[in-house]
Amino acid sequence: MRRKLAAGNWKMNGTSADLAQIEAIAQAHTGALSEIVMAPPTTLLHRASEFTKTGPVTLGAQDCDKHENGAHTGDISAEMLIDAGASYVILGHSERRADHAEHDEDVSAKAQIALKAGMRVIICLGEELEEREAENTLDVIAGQLARSIPADISGDRLVIAYEPIWAIGTGKVPSIEQIAEVHDFIRARLEERFGSRIARSVRLLYGGSVKPNNAAAIFAVDNVDGALVGGASLIADDFSPIINALDAS
Ligand code: PEP
Repeated sequence: MRRKLAAGNWKMNGTSADLAQIEAIAQAHTGALSEIVMAPPTTLLHRASEFTKTGPVTLGAQDCDKHENGAHTGDISAEMLIDAGASYVILGHSERRADHAEHDEDVSAKAQIALKAGMRVIICLGEELEEREAENTLDVIAGQLARSIPADISGDRLVIAYEPIWAIGTGKVPSIEQIAEVHDFIRARLEERFGSRIARSVRLLYGGSVKPNNAAAIFAVDNVDGALVGGASLIADDFSPIINALDAS
């Protein structure tokens, strides 16, 4: 049985004053059925860990370096993230791919290092609008899956987020049928590559403009095990109803 997962990606938003939002989520969802992961900026991880030592929230980071340690000025290793309180790391977000020229192979290398350090990884995949319009979505996803997911995985430490790039931060959301098609496809591909035991234990999140008013419909889709949420995770009053909808699904 896969435990549902609501993950909040704060991106480059948030300073000390915003820690109150994480505290509010932790307090409001003590009995949550779903797992809740908050991924604030790295600078807040250690202080946020005060609210996540017990209770429903675990912490995630938004990236890690592909090296274990060493001469990589400004970069952060998986071990450092664990030390700061994170147990998850988001990898291959489309903003990292676009802003830092990260390719699938980098994502795979980062996943390997994070998994080796003991973290759980949320690997992001998704097509551009032009690729969707050219009906290439499944080919794009197949390629990203093949190259971004390392060969040696344990299903319960891998989470995959399907995030159509054109839906991130835009208020546009694919149809329920489009979400279902991609999630079913990812599950089938995982099964072909890793066998059904591992494929069945990988959680598949949908991400892209999930809001309180569309969450329940998205969570009703087969093979959607939760959401990766950007904008609506910044404020507890917006994220809470999404978590409630997931609990109820
Ligand atoms: C994201 O950044 O992963 C995301 C899905 O953002 P938003 O929910 O704001 O579209």
